[in-house]
Parts: sequence; structure tokens; C-alpha cells
Amino acid sequence: MGRFDGRVAVVTGAARGIGFATAKRFADEGAAVAVIDLDETAASEAAAKLGASQAVGIGCDVSDAASAEAAVERVVRELGGIHILVNNAGITRDNLLFKMTEEDWDLVMGVHLKGAFLMTKAAQKHFVEQKYGKILNLSSVSALGNRGQANYSAAKMGIQGFTRTLGIELGPFGVNANAVAPGFIATEMTDATAARLKLDVEEFRRLNAEANPVKRVGQPEDIAAAAAFLCSDEASYITGQTLYVDGGAKLG
Ligand code: NAP
Repeated sequence: MGRFDGRVAVVTGAARGIGFATAKRFADEGAAVAVIDLDETAASEAAAKLGASQAVGIGCDVSDAASAEAAVERVVRELGGIHILVNNAGITRDNLLFKMTEEDWDLVMGVHLKGAFLMTKAAQKHFVEQKYGKILNLSSVSALGNRGQANYSAAKMGIQGFTRTLGIELGPFGVNANAVAPGFIATEMTDATAARLKLDVEEFRRLNAEANPVKRVGQPEDIAAAAAFLCSDEASYITGQTLYVDGGAKLG
């Protein structure tokens, strides 16, 4: 028996990275899974790799209201319901404040903050109606401030406030909402940061591991494990919280 037998889990931005590892973890523990990503072909290919009892890949731009609503309705139609939503889709447009454009600000806010809002709004009506739902939002250690990421850190701290409010509003309806705030995780997102800093990917990972109390960088599976716990019924008395999964990085 898996922890998520009979559940339908939706993970946004799940064609790769943390989202894919999280979708895989739900599938391994019995859930039917919807992989949502910008490109439907990439989403479908990822869904096919999950080994889930039932899986679907859906092309969706989470920052667009009609697209987000249509994706949630398609999940309900094709997988028979929705019980878990992980708002993971993300982008970076890093730059120092004086060079950051309005477009870079809007794009990052649009995907992380508005995207989480739109997907949650579309899913919550099903959650409230069935008096059951789990929402997990991806924040970041960058929420605490990070040079070159004024847009991203504002969005990621916004996610924490959004999560707390969901906890208050949706708790009476059997819905838990939490956030995870990863530290450095080895994905294409951090590989892109290495490229921007003109560092070799392996060297960038080695430097980050050296600076971390547990002396390694995080892997997508580290976040998937925390996500699975927070979306399980074992965590039903935990809501509105942000769990930092960072090897202790923010302690220093
Ligand atoms: P990633 O490898 O870049 O994957 C992000 C995925 O989101 C991509 O598949 C991307 O699709 C998709 N996406 C982007 N915009 C979208 C949109 N509008 N609608 C739907 N999907 C969209 O990133 P990751 O490292 O796995 O990060 C996942 C989440 O964790 C993000 O929220 C990120 O901010 C957060 N996080 C990551 C780290 C880290 O160290 N990696 C640390 C803290 C927090 P395309 O490929 O088509 O662009």
C-alpha cells in the first residue's frame, strides 16, 4: 500500500528538475499524476517516464488564468479528481536592481506568484467541495534576500505569505497548505546560474557544497521527500508553514 493510493497529484513545472522528482515520488507511492509544463510534448514525455498507474502530461502556462483553469479541469476529467497540488513551476531573470527591467520583474512575479495563485484558485473549489486537499508551494532560501534576485526573492517571500493565508482560509475545509524553501538544488535552474556567473557547473556545485553545513548540494529527490511528507495525511496538523530544505545553508 502506498501513501497516495487513490489520490490524484498535480505538479506544475514537472517536465524536469524538482517538479519531475516530486511527480515521480507521488507516482512511486501510488498516486495518479498530472505533469504540467509549458510544453505539452515535454510534459507528456515526462509523464510517460513516471511509471505511474495513471499519468497525463498537460501543456499549460500557469501565469495565464484561462490556461491554469483549463489544466485543472482536464486533470479532473482525465484522472477523475484532484487531491494534491504542487506549485513548482519557476523561472529566473536575475540581475542587479539597477539593471533589472520591468519585464524581468513581471515575468518572475507572473510565473511564481500569480501562477501559484491561479492554479490554487482553480484547484481549491474541488478541494473545498470534497473537504480534502493538499497544497504545496515552492519558496526558496532566496526569500530571505539574495544579490541579483530582487524579483525572485520578493516572489518567493510572497509565496510564504500566500501559504500562511491559505492555511487560515482553507483549514476549516480540510485543506492543508505548506511551502518548502529549497537551498541549492542541482537542476538546470542552478546550472543556468553557473553559466551566468561564468563558472563551470561542477565547480559551481563544489563551491556551494563546500559552503554548506552538510557539505553537499541538494538533489531534486531531497525536495521530493519533503513534499511527499507535507502532502501526506501524516502532516494533517501542519499547515501554513514553510520548511527550509537547505542542508542548514541559511544558518551561517
Ligand atoms: P527548472 O529545472 O528550471 O524547472 C522548472 C520547470 O518549470 C521547467 O520545466 C519550466 O519549463 C517550467 N515552467 C517555467 N515557466 C512555466 C510556466 N509559466 N508554466 C508552466 N511551467 C513553467 O527548475 P527547478 O530547479 O527544478 O526549480 C523548481 C522550483 O523550485 C522553482 O519554483 C524554483 O524557483 C524552486 N527552487 C529551486 C531551487 C534550486 O536550487 N534549483 C532552489 C530554490 C527554489 P520550460 O523548460 O519550458 O521553461
